[in-house]
Amino acid sequence: MSREPGVAATGGPITDAAVRSRSAVVRELRGGYVVEDVLVGPAGPGEVLVRVQACGLCHTDAIARSGLGGAGFFPAVLGHEGAGVVVAVGPGVEHLAPGTTVVLSFDSCGRCAPCRAGRPSYCVEFLERNIGGRGIDDRVAIRDAGGAPLTSRWFGQSSFGEFAIATARNCVPVEDDLPPEILAPLGCGFLTGAGTVLVELDLRAGETLAVFGVGAVGLSAILAAKARGAAEIVAVDVQPARLAVAERLGATRVVDGTAPDLVQAVRAGTSGLDATFDTTGRASVMAAAVESLGMGGRSALCAATDELTVRPQALVGRSLTYVREGSADPHTLIPELVRMWRAGAFPVESLVRTYGLDELDEAERDAASGAVVKPVILLPAAARPPGGPGVAAGPALS
Ligand SMILES: [Zn+2]
Ligand SMILES: [Zn+2]
Repeated sequence: MSREPGVAATGGPITDAAVRSRSAVVRELRGGYVVEDVLVGPAGPGEVLVRVQACGLCHTDAIARSGLGGAGFFPAVLGHEGAGVVVAVGPGVEHLAPGTTVVLSFDSCGRCAPCRAGRPSYCVEFLERNIGGRGIDDRVAIRDAGGAPLTSRWFGQSSFGEFAIATARNCVPVEDDLPPEILAPLGCGFLTGAGTVLVELDLRAGETLAVFGVGAVGLSAILAAKARGAAEIVAVDVQPARLAVAERLGATRVVDGTAPDLVQAVRAGTSGLDATFDTTGRASVMAAAVESLGMGGRSALCAATDELTVRPQALVGRSLTYVREGSADPHTLIPELVRMWRAGAFPVESLVRTYGLDELDEAERDAASGAVVKPVILLPAAARPPGGPGVAAGPALS
């Protein structure tokens, strides 16, 4: 096995060296994903080198590729729903040992007031640590074959590749017998949907909820609402196929998002709902989500790019918030979602379709068209022995 100074051969003993990795690189704004040989690591202070088994494709990856990052963001390694196994830890990392299976979620500082209050998605350093792609200290975690730096701290992980550098804080340890394609999306998309219902809205048994936009985030919100014992779950979307999935997963009523009076269609003669959740970010739909609330109701948004205009009177006695990552603490909610999955109460496997690392462009197209709810990239490390745990071993949809 060839080995250069400071470069560990993949599969060999790994200490403080960089490792070779096949990773998907986006070279320029709106450029496609190209699989390249890159060098990942070594893990710096507080960091962890992870052999990635699976990484979900989240809508935010597509937004970054097509403009959020800006031209200076590229070349970059995206991917922020990684799951895999720790292979080396950097200085100062004490609670994570090599061999630990982890879900990679968003990064946070752990010291600011929101972090100390258990609301790390409102960390004062959230944007720098996650969206900026360069971390808090502008450190380079991945270099290309020529040694040039790549933007490699996307959501503290940049995990579209065989290896990734995460921070100890954004690694959530989990049991090692779970399918990686189920674990991976728990780090962002499913966390956001379930967290909004379970943490931010804190939906109670017997309450009513309407979810506007039922992609990966909206459908995981519906699963969480069903698990909480919601009396009514209204799914709103413009794609009949997605509404059919929502119904199968627990929506008690579906509404065509193109209905001429959307608020009236959602309220359906009632005095309004206890909670609403908009995942579309569209101005008219966000406003409808607020207007559909009954007195005392609470509404959450998570994806706005449009301006929002709301009648002040529509907020009388009601609340409206913009959630990040479902307001969840990944270290609390991800283990809870795993427990729910094992109990058959969070059956997300029907939403997942797996792809190879060289199929990211296709995966993004399939997500955009609505053909697939949650694409997950499987890396070679996900290979399981025959008869090992897999999606087929998960609970069946009721
Ligand atoms: Zn913080
Ligand atoms: Zn995401």
